[in-house]
Amino acid sequence: MKKNLAMKLAVLGLCVVTAFAFTACGSSSSSKKTTKTYTVVTEPTFPPYDTTDKDGNLDGFDMDMVKAIAKDQGFKVKFKSMEFQSLIPAIQAGNADIIAAGMNVDKERSKKVDFTNTYSDSGLVVMVKKDNTTIKGVDSLTSTMKVASQTGTSGATECKDLQKEGKISEAVILDGFDTCIMQLQNGDVNAVIIDKPVAQNYIQKHSGKFKIVGKTMDAESYAMAVKKGNTALKKQLNQGLKNIIKDGTFQKLCDKWGIGNKFASTN
Ligand code: GLN
Repeated sequence: MKKNLAMKLAVLGLCVVTAFAFTACGSSSSSKKTTKTYTVVTEPTFPPYDTTDKDGNLDGFDMDMVKAIAKDQGFKVKFKSMEFQSLIPAIQAGNADIIAAGMNVDKERSKKVDFTNTYSDSGLVVMVKKDNTTIKGVDSLTSTMKVASQTGTSGATECKDLQKEGKISEAVILDGFDTCIMQLQNGDVNAVIIDKPVAQNYIQKHSGKFKIVGKTMDAESYAMAVKKGNTALKKQLNQGLKNIIKDGTFQKLCDKWGIGNKFASTN
């Protein structure tokens, strides 16, 4: 009788163990299938890199590039919009995983976030109204002039430096590129300092209103950024970027959004 019970218990035990093993197996294979979703942050007044479509959804070269990288690397993305100067704090606080915002790599930012390889080359230009005949470049700005740029950007730093050096009367620092343009249109500011491809894109879309004057200042290159120390995600982004350059997707996106492909010669 006792032997029988022991036998029954042993069988029951085996069942429990087997059931547990199956469950464990089941859960591990399903966790493999669960794709990670990363939150990508951007500032959407920066076409063609970062903008919104007619329904108000985030759109642009950066969004398409990240989506293509995500597809290549097998993760999902969701996009979130914020002011440019809030992007790095969002990553630092762990409220977002990836910045894709036409952000150029610089020393100060590199202390706070880790940048991927660069994907686009840029530089700052002076943008004025088409009928302006007095401003011919950054050197012809005078101490009576106001110049606008977007908060937290390299353009804003340039404007503030010009004000400090007494070369302009006021650096007008605004939330978005769209408000900078409005102020330029209204005559509230004399010029806007902005990234060249963004100025070119705007001028092309609103022909006859504005122009770029003078030379391109400070060469800049755009990269995505992740939380300091998140080498795994940085590696994935770099690998994905490499792959989409190789398979031609990157070139297609450059063509779609009308920007230069900095890798074109190495393809
Ligand atoms: N490239 C500039 C910077 O990184 C501006 C970027 C932007 O306004 N989205 O500061």
